[in-house]
Amino acid sequence: MQDMTDFAALAAGTDHRRQSFGLTERRAALSALERALRTNRSAIHDALRADLGRDAAETDLVELLPILTEISHTRSSLRRWMRPRRAAPTLAMLGTSARLVPEAKGVVLILAPWNFPLMLCLAPLVSALAAGNAAVVKPSELTPATGALLARLVAEALPADLVRVALGGVEVAQALLEQPFDHIFFTGSPAVGRKVMQAASRHLTPVTLELGGKSPVIVGPDADLAQAARWIVWGKVMNAGQVCVGPDHVFVHSSRMADLRAALMAEFARQGGDIPRIANPRHHARLVALAQDAADKGAVVTPFGPDDPADLRLAPRLIEGQGAAMMVATEEIFGPLLPLIPFDDVSQVIARITAAPKPLALYIFARDRGLVDLVTSRTSSGSVGVNLTVMTFSHGNLPFGGVGNSGMGAAHGLAGFETFSHLKPVLRNWASPLPLVFPPYGARVRRLIGTMVRWL
Ligand code: NAD
Repeated sequence: MQDMTDFAALAAGTDHRRQSFGLTERRAALSALERALRTNRSAIHDALRADLGRDAAETDLVELLPILTEISHTRSSLRRWMRPRRAAPTLAMLGTSARLVPEAKGVVLILAPWNFPLMLCLAPLVSALAAGNAAVVKPSELTPATGALLARLVAEALPADLVRVALGGVEVAQALLEQPFDHIFFTGSPAVGRKVMQAASRHLTPVTLELGGKSPVIVGPDADLAQAARWIVWGKVMNAGQVCVGPDHVFVHSSRMADLRAALMAEFARQGGDIPRIANPRHHARLVALAQDAADKGAVVTPFGPDDPADLRLAPRLIEGQGAAMMVATEEIFGPLLPLIPFDDVSQVIARITAAPKPLALYIFARDRGLVDLVTSRTSSGSVGVNLTVMTFSHGNLPFGGVGNSGMGAAHGLAGFETFSHLKPVLRNWASPLPLVFPPYGARVRRLIGTMVRWL
């Protein structure tokens, strides 16, 4: 295990750095990171191919592009985000002026999962640096090539007292969680999220938890099925469905079941050729067991294409006839299995969604705005996507995050900047009349207070 002394020293204080880490230094750090990514593009392709069997084009699309976009959006907006924000005085505050001053939290810890091993380390790092923090980043031990590359890139691009990469498994994560960080940004499963929150309570460290869950898709009676199939299948073949905001299962109006099935088969045939590996033997076995359990309990499981277990490749599978007792009905699938569940009345779907833990994303394919509004207003989820999947993750001006079981706090753009900032109110008195009602409470003061209670 790595020596914790360096990380502990970094976590213990960088006050002097915080004071001098202004707009110019923050922009320079972001630019250095961008240069390192561009220069090492082919090394990044190689690392992701080694860890997840990913095609280089997909790595560009789902790792590099989101980080580069985050960097350029952040760099160009940073001056505005860092500016103190004026708060207009409320009546009792007449004679004062107020500003909200964003200040860096200090030294933050970023714990990342394996499914987008570069992007989920660096996107939060961009926000942390933008907000003026130092950071320790711990990539997942399940993607060692990407972790090692990240450690090299960061060491070459950024000073060691600004960002460190900690490599290792659960024991390293636990040792880091012992340190008094000023914020913890965790992306991973709800089960580990609970442990992180518990560990954070020791130092009263604030946490952002970007978790997972079962994100449902609803295909309405008037949906454009070709469009729906294209987006649903994309969310299932991208990274072999190991996507936190990927569609987990599909509710489809009974009248469209057969047509959607045909459209999905056509799309799987079109997009399914470049499906990456399942991350490791444990997850591969878990997914095979999920499909087998569904088949054993009476579901029809249809694979699209051949499997290659030796290389951990699992063909996408459609699951029809899902029952409540099947594991696939309750466990986050996080892989290329797609249950297709017919419904007659959308209120049945709303009832099932609200009875389950709150999902990270919810997708609706429909032309009818009434249906979209009904589902949006009657359900709670981290975000809602209409006539698309996955992209709720990628909008630079929308906060990204979960709710309830799918997480707390928000990332990306301004929301990410604010996550890693303390928005400090600074209230200045110019000519506040409030001393008129300070004690002693004589008759005049009592009258004034009475007037205030009536009018304010
Ligand atoms: P995970 O929770 O197993 O691991 C995430 C990180 O936590 C890793 O760095 C790991 O080393 C560390 N960790 C593991 N056990 C720990 C412990 N006991 N104490 C402290 N740290 C520990 O998650 P995973 O399997 O790598 O990723 C899959 C999960 O992540 C899915 O649930 C998925 O939905 C979720 N996810 C969410 C988002 C999001 O943005 N909301 C993005 C990607 C993945």
